[in-house]
Order: sequence, then structure tokens, then C-alpha cells
Amino acid sequence: MRVPTVRVEKLNDQPIRPERRYILYWMVAARRTRWSFGLDHAIQTARRLARPLVVFEPLRVDHPYASARFHRFVMDGMAHNQAAFAQSPVRYLPYVERAPGDGRGLLEALAADACVVVTDYQPGFFLSRMQRAAATKVGALLERVDGIGMIPLATTPRAFPTAHAYRRFMQQSLTQHLTTPTPDPLVGLDLPAAPDIAASLRPAWLPTPAGALTDDALLASLPIDHEVGPVATLRGGHAQARAALDRFLTCGLERYVDERLDPGADAQSGLSPYLHFGHVGVHEVFDAIARREQWSPSVLGPTKGAREGFWGMSPESEAFLDELVTWREVGHVYSHHRDDFDRYDGQPDWARATLEAHRTDARAVRYDRDALERAETHDEIWNAAQRQLVRDGRIHNALRMLWGKKILEWSDDPEQAWDRLVYLNNRWALDGRDANSWSGIGWVLGRFDRPWGPERPIFGMIRYMSSDQARRKMRLGAYLARWGPTESAV
Ligand SMILES: Cc1cc2nc3c(=O)[nH]c(=O)nc-3n(C[C@H](O)[C@H](O)[C@H](O)COP(=O)(O)OP(=O)(O)OC[C@H]3O[C@@H](n4cnc5c(N)ncnc54)[C@H](O)[C@@H]3O)c2cc1C
Repeated sequence: MRVPTVRVEKLNDQPIRPERRYILYWMVAARRTRWSFGLDHAIQTARRLARPLVVFEPLRVDHPYASARFHRFVMDGMAHNQAAFAQSPVRYLPYVERAPGDGRGLLEALAADACVVVTDYQPGFFLSRMQRAAATKVGALLERVDGIGMIPLATTPRAFPTAHAYRRFMQQSLTQHLTTPTPDPLVGLDLPAAPDIAASLRPAWLPTPAGALTDDALLASLPIDHEVGPVATLRGGHAQARAALDRFLTCGLERYVDERLDPGADAQSGLSPYLHFGHVGVHEVFDAIARREQWSPSVLGPTKGAREGFWGMSPESEAFLDELVTWREVGHVYSHHRDDFDRYDGQPDWARATLEAHRTDARAVRYDRDALERAETHDEIWNAAQRQLVRDGRIHNALRMLWGKKILEWSDDPEQAWDRLVYLNNRWALDGRDANSWSGIGWVLGRFDRPWGPERPIFGMIRYMSSDQARRKMRLGAYLARWGPTESAV
């Protein structure tokens, strides 16, 4: 099946160079070998031009928040990709940069022999800027493939102000976009054998050997933040992602409606780090749900933006897809259309106005950023959430909302709250630095939300949450025991 043209964007005006040696797939977002429109397009281009395929998956040491936690997770995924590509005619070049700047020029060097360069897309953070800069340097056509969501980003007209507005648009357009990527495109893949490229590379550009990808010695030697260490219980790669998905289908999904807001219940999928690093794609997750429901598009319901009844599935699958499709994608669409997605001054006018009106309100409690990071507040629920973030690289969503709201309450002003949320979330969360990091942080301060009364100190009309409410509504005993103050957070 051809990749829908609406998902493929030309990033430069360079021609295809049919006389050159291979197709280069620069894998930066969809870091996987299955269910990937990016890989499908690279394979189709290689077939059309009868050229070998070279896949280049780099990992830099100088990106913001680079740490042993993120590197371990991405390198796990690279090891998995290495094993998968080894069974195919594709030449795979995993590259873990060892010192800042070592990798500079490597993409251009590889592209010099490429007929076409294909890359993949994730809005937000720095990837898009990096790709646009690279487009001016590679001397061949650079095509970017968008496989991040069910709805292709190029078909979205603008950033949507609310989840309801996006849900309605998504419901009205979904049936035009049900083409899926190939589940396992490497099976039976017939392409010309790729040349041995390593021989012509500088020593600092050599691919990282398979064994080094899983070896902690390489990780330990890298100039990255080692205070943010790997999470032993959360390893990267497609196999791990698929195991998490299967576990959720067996044990979590049927409890999703009633228990997903219960931090002790483990009724969520835990997929967000895998989705963020592209170790699993949304189409594979959707396919698993659709199979469980024996679903076909003929059962789709009304398209007026209602949360329930559109998919024609069980209540639990409808609720899960509302998160996976509506909430996840409204964030992607926002970052795709707006350059200010990561700035406080990009927040909705009503939200900034109400926070401005309460800027000078007295704060009964203030904490500095270090105290927050070390989970040294008076609030045991907040401290537990912060400890989970630091030790486990995640926070249960129900508490993540409260965690964010309290940071607003305890900071000097909304801008300072914004900066702290970005820092804590993106430094420690394995799903951080995603378009949905800024969606979640933006939501704490009013994005995708509406004014809520009564007007309160500090918050104004921003939706308020308190630890007392959480204590009343949630069963927190097991969670507080698990993330209690047995050791410091950092
Ligand atoms: C302050 C704050 C910060 C956040 N930072 C991030 C972040 O850095 N990265 C991130 O992916 N999400 C973030 N979120 C959204 C949400 O917390 C996580 O997506 C969710 O908890 C991930 O857990 P899960 O995979 O088990 O979700 P599940 O409930 O199993 O949902 C399945 C998938 O749907 C998507 N999803 C679920 N809830 C949301 C949501 N509220 N908004 C957008 N997408 C959602 C995720 O991709 C998730 O993996 C943030 C929310 C808040 C309030």
C-alpha cells in the first residue's frame, strides 16, 4: 500500500539523484521497524529507484535534557532495531554520539551518496527545526513523512482551542484516513544489498557496535546528565512497548473507565514513553483495540464531537481512544501550527488575563525549585508524585494534574510556574519533551480548558485542584506507601 501523499512533505527543492548509491532514511521520530509510514515510504522509494536502503538512527549528546535516562531508553530501542534490520537487506547505522559535535557533518556525508533522503516527523521540541536546517544542507531531495497520528497533520486547518473542537474535526475526517502502515515491512523484503558504508566514514562517525548499545560502559562514558538515571523497570524498544500494550489489553483496559483515575490501580497503558520515542506507533495501538472489538468503520457513530458513541466500541475502548486520539493529537496539532506552543505568552488570552489579575495575590506557601525537585514540601501527596517522577520517570495522570496545579500555587508568578513545570517534567519524565508535555503544562494554566468559577486567589478563573479533593476522591493509601519518604527524591 502506498503511503498517503498527504503524509509526505518535501522539505527542500533538491531533485531526486537517481545516479547515486542508495536511499537514506534518517530515523529521528518513528524509531521502529514496524507500523511506520516513514519506513514504508523509504522502502517504496528504494523499490521504485531499485536502490538499497540505508537507515541512519542518530542519538546526539547535546540536546536539551540529554540524560542517562533518555539515552538508555533510546539505546534499548536501537538495539532492538539493530536485531530487526540484521535479518533484512537494509543497512542499519545506529550512531550514539560520544562528544558534543562529533556527529556534525555525518548526515550530510551520508546524504552525499543518497538519491533521496527520507525522514519522519514529530511536532514540538527541536526535531522540526533541526530537519529544516538540514534541508538546506543535504544535496538531494529531503522528504518528511508524518505518521504521528491517525489524522495527517497536513489536513488540519489550524490549532484547535479545545479538545471538543478537535474531536469534532477528527470525527468528521477520520474515514478518509484509515490507511495503516505495514505491520512488518521487513518480512520478505527484497531490495538490492546495501554497500558497506562504514569503511568510508571518519572514526568519530563510525556506527555504534550492537553490543555497545546495551552496554552500560558506553552510557556511563557519555557527557550527559547522569543524575537522571535509567529507570530499571522501564526499558525501551518495540518489544517492551508491545508487551506493555498486551498487558494493558489483558489487565488494564476493562478497568479503564472506572479505575484509570485511581493512582494505585495500574489501569492505564503506560505507553506514553514508547509513543514519544516512536517505539510504538498509534496505528499499531489502534489496530490492537480494533481487533479486540472486532471493529469495522461501518459502526462509526455521530460526528458532533461527543466523547462517547463515535467509535462504536465498548465504553472502555471509547474512553481510551479519546485519550490516545483526541487528547494526544490535539497537542500535536497545536505544536504543528503554533511556534509559541512552548511559551507562556502563547497561552489563551482569557487564561493570561485572569492569571495577570491575580499576579500579586498573597502566596501562603512558596517553594524554590530545588525544594520542589527534592520533594520537600508540606504536601505528602505532591511529594509522592514528585518522587514517582524522579525515581520512575512518570506520574500517574490523575496526580500529574494536581502536581502541576500546586506548582502554580506555590510559585511567585505564572511565568515562574511555567518554567518550573517545563524543567521538572522534561528533565525527569520519560515521556517528557513531547508536544504533549507542553499541552499538559499548558492545560494546568488554562490551555484547552475554559474559565471555571468561583474566582479564586492566585488561580483566578483557572480550573483549581487541591490535595484535599484528591484525598477525598482517590484511594491513595497504596500510592503514598509506595512513594513515601523513605529516601530523598533526588
Ligand atoms: C502537567 C502535565 C504534564 C504532562 N506531560 C506529558 C508529557 O510530557 N508527555 C505526554 O505524553 N503526556 C503528558 N501529559 C499527559 C498525560 O499525563 C500522559 O499522556 C499520560 O498520563 C500517559 O500515561 P499512559 O500512557 O498510561 O496514558 P493512557 O491513559 O494509557 O493513555 C494512552 C495514551 O493517550 C495519550 N494521553 C493520555 N492522556 C493524555 C492527556 N491528558 N493529554 C495528551 N495525551 C494523553 C498518551 O499518549 C497516552 O500514552 C501531561 C499531563 C499533565 C497534566
